[in-house]
Amino acid sequence: MKIDLITLFPEMCETVLGESIIGRAQKSEAIEIKCHQLRDYALDKHRRVDDTTYGGGMGMLMKCEPIALCFEDIEKQRGVRPHFICMSPQGKTLTQKRLKELSEIDNICVLAGHYEGVDQRIIDEFIDEEISIGDYVLTGGELPALVFIDALARMAPGVLSNNECFTEESHFNGLLEYPQYTKPMEWRGLEVPPVLYSGDHAKVDRWRYEQSLINTAKKRPDMLKEKELSEDDKRILADFMPDDG
Ligand code: SAM
Repeated sequence: MKIDLITLFPEMCETVLGESIIGRAQKSEAIEIKCHQLRDYALDKHRRVDDTTYGGGMGMLMKCEPIALCFEDIEKQRGVRPHFICMSPQGKTLTQKRLKELSEIDNICVLAGHYEGVDQRIIDEFIDEEISIGDYVLTGGELPALVFIDALARMAPGVLSNNECFTEESHFNGLLEYPQYTKPMEWRGLEVPPVLYSGDHAKVDRWRYEQSLINTAKKRPDMLKEKELSEDDKRILADFMPDDG
């Protein structure tokens, strides 16, 4: 997986992406992430990448040409046109389902917007997809881009120790994860459910699946409306589903 990030703050992004799991994955070459300084593609001596908006208004807008030149340079460097994503509060809200689909794409380029956003002509002519990280507005696209890249990169082969690290987690199969416990077995009078140290793997799997269903029903009943439930699932959930569910 190769990810290019176009940003006004490459050092900030490199610092975050250079740490922990994603940092190690880059060192082991399981993934490749390059951050590009958009100002390097500005056309004037002041390296300006923004200008005032037509029609008036307070804010500045990111200009077309530096973004186009930067993206075209990335395309040339990679030898292929990357799928071009713009982080935007106007995009579709990011989901694990969409991340799963995007993790199949080898080359992805992400644009972190700033100011009032990006000239519409870039969105219309260059951007393949706008992605939002939620219905609220941040000052810039770096944090959303880092959230997106982290969530995407951890699904690339070789980034986590095995696929179960993410396929068993919340959201991957439309459910939240089951409750988990670590040592000690008893803490302040609270005990770990005995099935988890029974040594019976089939029973542990069954318990975890049931707890996953129940956890989802309690915390995110809306998710179960999207999920195909078996008769057995419905029986487990009978006491936990809201009346309308
Ligand atoms: N004027 C824009 C609007 O109302 O849609 C908001 C611009 S915002 C202040 C500046 C940049 O931050 C955006 O171009 C985008 O890259 C990023 N951003 C802000 N909120 C975001 C969100 N919820 N998801 C993804 N990106 C976001």
